[in-house]
Amino acid sequence: MATDSLLQQPPAPLPPKKEETEAGNYFVANYPPFSFWTKEAVAKALEVLEKPAPIDHPMGLYFHIPFCRKRCHFCYFRVYTDKNANEIKSYLDSAVTEMQMMAAKPYVHGRKPLFVYFGGGTPSYLSVPQLTDLTNRMKDLFPWDDAVEVAFEAEPGTLTEKKLDALRSLGVTRLSLGVENFDDHILEINGRAHRSGEIHRAYQHARNIGFPQINIDLIAGMVEETEENWQQCIEQALELAPDCLTIYQMEVPYNTGIYQKMKAEGQLVAPVADWQTKRRWVKEAFARFEAAGYGVSSATTVVKNPATTKFIYRDALWSGADLLPLGVASFGHLGGVHLQNHADIGPYQLLVKNGQLPIFRAYETTHEERFIREFILTLKLGHVQASYYIQKYGIDPRVAFAAQLAHIHAEGFGEVSGDTISLNRDGLMQVDRLLEDFFLPQHRHARYT
Ligand code: SF4
Repeated sequence: MATDSLLQQPPAPLPPKKEETEAGNYFVANYPPFSFWTKEAVAKALEVLEKPAPIDHPMGLYFHIPFCRKRCHFCYFRVYTDKNANEIKSYLDSAVTEMQMMAAKPYVHGRKPLFVYFGGGTPSYLSVPQLTDLTNRMKDLFPWDDAVEVAFEAEPGTLTEKKLDALRSLGVTRLSLGVENFDDHILEINGRAHRSGEIHRAYQHARNIGFPQINIDLIAGMVEETEENWQQCIEQALELAPDCLTIYQMEVPYNTGIYQKMKAEGQLVAPVADWQTKRRWVKEAFARFEAAGYGVSSATTVVKNPATTKFIYRDALWSGADLLPLGVASFGHLGGVHLQNHADIGPYQLLVKNGQLPIFRAYETTHEERFIREFILTLKLGHVQASYYIQKYGIDPRVAFAAQLAHIHAEGFGEVSGDTISLNRDGLMQVDRLLEDFFLPQHRHARYT
């Protein structure tokens, strides 16, 4: 039984709190960490694709669009800001070829996606004809008529009224606006392409044409963020009354422009607010939105109506749904195997052109790792039920993680009460720092690249 091996783990102390923002990835997006995924395991992903399609197991699509107007200084994705219309068309053609190959695989053939996610990069960088052509070809291969959510990331400055109308008619149900901040100087100094006027224009039209769900992303602690500016950001976000607000605390991974500058100047501490301040800013924003009737639905989100505002992509992904990764650099999960496509557009397109799936690295998870993954990711919701894991995995997290949960309790961040394991608001604000304690010993202290 997997519980035994977990119980044998020595109690791990929580990592020391570093309040200054130093370089490195802070957020836990998956488990085991990406640095353990290998080229050798790609064969495991290919094996899964040859298996018969599972019955009644949800599947979603993630399609990655790697183009942006300019590179934000805090960006750690591989993005392209110099591609012309022909190169973009060529990429989209490659992606559709990849989709054809995937759709023909026994594990995928005939399955309809429960959800579709367009991420980037900047999906809204595509023109209306490009979006229309792409989605028509996608729908031929993977009909969306049963999809309960089609989510689309957008940069406000790329959204004309015509494009928003097109996105609505193409079936987008969740529009996510990368606002980040409402102040033009802060947007500019952080390398963002859009300005505040574009936010308001895009939001208003999106609201007028009735998108079922509009999310706004903010970042707490951008370069030159101040107390006053942050309070104004909260108020302006509240005035827009989005269905969902997502707030990220600024992290500075190694492949960002901010880190490159730090390195050149010999700085160890990033020129952004410390973690304590960022946590307080998010906490204050959450409290302000709660006072306006919103509910806190995770470590990063508040929603206007918790009963009806769902984020299917996130919840399905965390609970182990199959996610078909499509496009350059995209991540997915099929039949217990994590996989990621080539992160560079050249090798990606070349492999597809040669009739090969462009999978770059993979990881075959064990039963125990899938349990840990789902437990730690869903802990970001703030509370989980032990009985759910006992029923699904045959493991009681209250027993398997007794030492880790005792640490959390001792630090005053949460508690176990009957069937419920919960984090309080302070715990939720730093949940990613707490999660590494739940990793298997061999996965701790890994850089999340
Ligand atoms: S818009 Fe997003 S993906 Fe594009 S450069 Fe900025 S942070 Fe990176």
